[in-house]
Amino acid sequence: MGEFDLISRYFKRPVHHAALGIGDDCALLQPAPGTQLAISCDMLVQGRHFFADVNPHSLGHKALAVNLSDLAACGAKPLAFTLALALPEANASWLAAFAQGLFELADAHDCELIGGDTTAGPLNICITVFGEVPVINGRSQALLRTGARAGDDLYVSGTLGDARLALNVQQGKLPLPEPWLLAARARLERPTPRVALGMALRGIASAAIDLSDGLIGDLGHVLECSQVGATLQVDTLVQCIACYPGPIAGDAGGHIALSVEQWRTLALAGGDDYELLFTAAPHQRDAVAHAAQASQTPVHRVGQIDASPGLRLLDAQGQRLPNHYASFDHFA
Ligand code: ADP
Ligand code: MG
Repeated sequence: MGEFDLISRYFKRPVHHAALGIGDDCALLQPAPGTQLAISCDMLVQGRHFFADVNPHSLGHKALAVNLSDLAACGAKPLAFTLALALPEANASWLAAFAQGLFELADAHDCELIGGDTTAGPLNICITVFGEVPVINGRSQALLRTGARAGDDLYVSGTLGDARLALNVQQGKLPLPEPWLLAARARLERPTPRVALGMALRGIASAAIDLSDGLIGDLGHVLECSQVGATLQVDTLVQCIACYPGPIAGDAGGHIALSVEQWRTLALAGGDDYELLFTAAPHQRDAVAHAAQASQTPVHRVGQIDASPGLRLLDAQGQRLPNHYASFDHFA
C-alpha cells in the first residue's frame, strides 16, 4: 500500500462544511458570516502520551478528543480537522481501527477531515482542529482564560483524577479492583470532550480552560491570565472522582485502599481528564445549571475566584491544606 493509496483508502471522505477537502494542495474552509475561526493543534507521541501497544481504535478517538476538548474550552463549534500522521508501517488492520475510532468521534461532532500529511517514522499523531464562534455586536463569544473576576464561582465538569488513577494502576503504583479499573481506563483511553457544555456556556461563563495537565496547573493558567486568585474546596473535587468510594472523613467502603492524600493528589494533579474548568458570576448559577442540563453534562461548583492572588486549598472542614501538588510539564 503506497502513501496515496493509504490516504484515499482510510482518510479521504466527502466533505459538507468545507469548500474543498482532501486532494489538492490546500483545503478550503469558508467561515460563516459573523463568525471567527477557532484553531487548535495537539500532538500525541508514542512513549509520551500512549504506549506502543495501545488499542488503535482508542488512539484514533483520543487523538481527536484532546483537540475537540480545546474547542470546547473556547465554546467553539467543531467544523473540520487536519491529520498529520507518522507511521512506522502501513498496517491495514491498525489503520482501519484507528480510522474507525477517529471518524466515530468526528461524526458524533459533525467535524470533518479536510487534509493532512502522511510520512513514515516513529508513531506520532498531530491534529489541528477548526471550530466556529459567533461574534455578536463586534464581540467574540469565545470563552477565554482571561475573563475570571473576583467573586466568580469556580466550576468543573464531570470527574477528575480517573485517568491518572488508571495510569497509576497500569504502572503498578496503585491497587484497584477490576470494575473500577475498567471505568477509570475508559476515562484515560476514551475521554469525552465537553463540546456541548462549552457551547452552552457562551455568554454565561466568564473564563474557561480544559483540564489536560492537572487542575492545579490549569487553574493556575486561568488565575495568571485573569490576574486573580482562588479558593478551592478540595474535598468537593475528590468526591467527584468516579471511583471514589465515600465521604472523605468516613469509611472508604473497604473496596479501594487509597489514602485521603492519594485521592486528593489524583483530583488535583491528575491530568488527562479533558473536563472543563470555568468561572461564572454568582448571578449566573441558574444559567450554569441550565447549560449543564441542556448539554447533559454534570457540573460541580468547587470554589470561588478571589481578588488576592494565589490559590488557597481548603478541606471539608474549611482548614487550609498545603499546596504541594504539581501538574504535568513535559520539560520540568
Ligand atoms: P502536498 O505534498 O501537496 O502537501 P500530499 O501529497 O502530502 O500533499 O497530500 C495529498 C493530499 O492528501 C492533500 O490534500 C493532503 O491534505 C491529504 N492528506 C495527506 N495525508 C493525509 C492524512 N493523513 N489525512 C488526511 N489527509 C491527508
Ligand atoms: Mg502541495
